[in-house]
Amino acid sequence: MHSPDTPTAPAPASPQGGLRFDDTRTAFAHRSTGDLKRARWMFGLIGSPALVALGAKAVRLALAVRFPLGWALRPVFDYFCGGEDIAESMDTAERLSRFGVRTILDYSAEGQTGEAALDAAMEQIIAAIRAAEGDDRFAFAVFKVSALSDNDLLEQVGSGQPNEIANAAWQRVQERVAHVCSTAAEKGVPIMIDAEESWLQGAIDQLAESMMRHHNRGACRVYTTAQLYRHDRLAYIQRLTEAARNEGWIAGVKLVRGAYMEKERERAAEEGRPSPIQPDKAATDRDFDAAIDFALDNLDDLNIVCGSHNESSTLKLGLAMQENGIAPDDPRIAFAQLLGMSDNLSFNLGAGGYNVAKYVPYGPLREAIPYLIRRAEENTSVGGQTSRELELIREEIRRRRDS
Ligand SMILES: Cc1cc2nc3c(=O)[nH]c(=O)nc-3n(C[C@H](O)[C@H](O)[C@H](O)COP(=O)(O)OP(=O)(O)OC[C@H]3O[C@@H](n4cnc5c(N)ncnc54)[C@H](O)[C@@H]3O)c2cc1C
Repeated sequence: MHSPDTPTAPAPASPQGGLRFDDTRTAFAHRSTGDLKRARWMFGLIGSPALVALGAKAVRLALAVRFPLGWALRPVFDYFCGGEDIAESMDTAERLSRFGVRTILDYSAEGQTGEAALDAAMEQIIAAIRAAEGDDRFAFAVFKVSALSDNDLLEQVGSGQPNEIANAAWQRVQERVAHVCSTAAEKGVPIMIDAEESWLQGAIDQLAESMMRHHNRGACRVYTTAQLYRHDRLAYIQRLTEAARNEGWIAGVKLVRGAYMEKERERAAEEGRPSPIQPDKAATDRDFDAAIDFALDNLDDLNIVCGSHNESSTLKLGLAMQENGIAPDDPRIAFAQLLGMSDNLSFNLGAGGYNVAKYVPYGPLREAIPYLIRRAEENTSVGGQTSRELELIREEIRRRRDS
């Protein structure tokens, strides 16, 4: 029996280089039993849809009236975020790296407006790049274009109708994005550009493509993101790869399913246009896995990050690499999950020597609240089923008690 507050030693790698995600000992070796018990309590609470709906409303109200919330949200913040700043997040980066999992620092403030706030956000992203420079605990840097631009402007540019004032603001957005990407390239830190709502994504695609064209000669330094819940994105990845091959650069794509499904469907319905989203989950899964297959056939021109908590897609990619004789640490393929989510994937991949990293959000607690609400909503029980996270945490607590 180990002491309840000491994380266990890393478990040995899976037998015969195999890959399995039900090994809770490896999945939670980085968490003490005390941590796991707190996590069991928290996931139990956020497992109730009614409680989360009520809690989310209460938190939004408390935010609006500036009621102090730190005491109530601290345990959730500590589980899903690295800390309030980069220095505080270093402990998390260190803890993950001991188990073969690297860090992607993600500044979590959202919805900034005004030129000064946008410039300040750019400085935050650059600080995260600097922190990752030459430090093997970090895999990538990341940013959202909406942190560097007003959303209305992105929408106007995407629709191809910017006016003169918008043109000047757009010039500054382009400069911010160029400055962030060239800093990352200079410092040798690959950088990913997150995907956002479809009405913003046209402008984001323009920026991301121009950055990849500029920086991705000889090595993949800038990655865009494709959301496979959109029915047009598999074809987009194929076109991008073709363009990269013809023009002599490498397309970098983080593959995700997509985070804004309800919003997308509602807005399309309001505007009376067809939804950009796939008709059902099976279609999203099919295109996600087809994108993996396409990447495996085109790795010289397309490098990927598989950004997913889906066990079946993650296993499919890991096993296909083995079958095709691709080394687990081949730099053309990486896996990523969010801190506090799907540790069974991240830490088993890490133990198997795969390139795997966690998004580690950081920022003032108040500003991380929208992110925390989304994590809670994602972990509420669906159809009365215990979330996968809670199921695995309970299993590991039982295993430690009985061992
Ligand atoms: C490292 C990382 C980075 C990420 N970066 C981004 C990003 O830049 N942009 C972004 O938008 N999201 C991003 N996400 C979130 C991601 O898009 C998903 O919302 C989330 O990961 C859940 O999908 P999944 O692949 O993990 O697995 P699953 O849980 O198997 O899939 C759930 C997803 O399937 C899709 N889906 C569910 N129901 C339906 C339906 N009825 N019809 C069609 N599709 C459906 C939705 O996209 C839903 O989120 C990121 C996730 C990770 C782990």
